[in-house]
Amino acid sequence: MIREPLVFAALTDIAGKLRGKGFPAAQLDTRQRSGIGWTPTNVQITCFDAIAPSPYGALGDLVLVPEPGSRATVDFQDGRPPEDMMLGDVRSLEGEPWECCTRSILRGALDRLERVAGLRVRGAFEQEFQLTGAAVPPGWAYSHAGFAAQAPFLGAVMAGLGQAGLTPDSIMKEYGDNQYEVTIAPEEGVRVADAATYVRMIVQQAALGLGERATFTPILDPKGVGNGVHIHLSFLDAEGRPATWDPDGPSGMSRQTGAFVAGILRHLGSIVAITAPSAISYLRLTPHRWSAAFNNLGFRDREASVRICPVAGDTPEAVARRYNFEFRAADATASPHLALAAILHAGAQGIEDGLPAPSATEEDLAELSPEDLARRGYERLPASLEEALDRFEADEVVRAWFPGRFSEVYLAHKRFEAAMMADKSIADRCAAYAGVY
Ligand code: GLU
Ligand code: MG
Repeated sequence: MIREPLVFAALTDIAGKLRGKGFPAAQLDTRQRSGIGWTPTNVQITCFDAIAPSPYGALGDLVLVPEPGSRATVDFQDGRPPEDMMLGDVRSLEGEPWECCTRSILRGALDRLERVAGLRVRGAFEQEFQLTGAAVPPGWAYSHAGFAAQAPFLGAVMAGLGQAGLTPDSIMKEYGDNQYEVTIAPEEGVRVADAATYVRMIVQQAALGLGERATFTPILDPKGVGNGVHIHLSFLDAEGRPATWDPDGPSGMSRQTGAFVAGILRHLGSIVAITAPSAISYLRLTPHRWSAAFNNLGFRDREASVRICPVAGDTPEAVARRYNFEFRAADATASPHLALAAILHAGAQGIEDGLPAPSATEEDLAELSPEDLARRGYERLPASLEEALDRFEADEVVRAWFPGRFSEVYLAHKRFEAAMMADKSIADRCAAYAGVY
């Protein structure tokens, strides 16, 4: 069959979807300057396709401008054309960043952190997913059998990551039914979120190429574990030196790290509306699922919303470089760009407000009475998307981090999605999300 080589110019949107348009690769030079046409109301296309109320209606024109440095080309060599993709920013026809452009919103958060703290961000998304077709024999958790059963797929994913210019770290059979997890080495700045986007795309396309389907849905079966997105972060100072670790700081956190994490915990109840934004995300954010349920910092605790990831037995220089913390209250229904932006803004707010470092919990907070929890300054995360959206709306500090009408548009989108799910049983909701993520 004849075939024009195509480049797919893409973005991640409020629905956490990868959307865009293809153009002939021969047009690359012009497209990098003038972009491709984009429609404001596209931002209200929900994950289920129905369009949420939009303040833009049928009006307006925008451009999606692909960024040359973001290009990723992956050839699975399975008879399908290679993936050739670029991520871009949405701008007005005059070249200004658009108020709902997720990548520009992330840039704004990165700039703020650099301005208030002189910090640059390194990070990597650790992502879990499940294969939906394969049989699930018992006894596969963490096993070689579960790994070997999907060896061609896992190998294709890792090769694809390398071709896309990322550094594969590890891949494993996770605990849940047909659940796998893939990690990559950290990237810097906007590329942290771009990389997370490519990981999802590569996993899904590698699976499809082998007649399988991979889902990143937050929870496939409420009786089982969820699919988490753990966002690992560390900082570099203006000279490019590691700035996250201080051997004398609480849990090894530098002063700035401590204030940053305190900012996250203070605003967590509001920002989960962005980092865990589906109607089933809150089934996962419950105690004893190794996800996140309270606004706490954990040292060696995989149920904390923010966890220090200890680095063992190395030189101080190596520890300083590798020491990081992870944000666990995120899932793949969130745009990586928006989720990271919300976390960075919360952290920058904590630094601006000079918050003291939180101390790490080392006990099961689910055992505490609501009074004890409150006395110690902890709260349960919202129990539903509606509750999270109400918290977001009520938090003027958080809403002010986002440009123009973004918050209004976001709330309209997500409330529409929540209403679409409201009458469904939990099982039907889980099935609906598994079909689209
Ligand atoms: N599946 C867990 C989650 O939903 C994470 C398990 C782990 O890797 O610690 O976040
Ligand atoms: Mg895991």
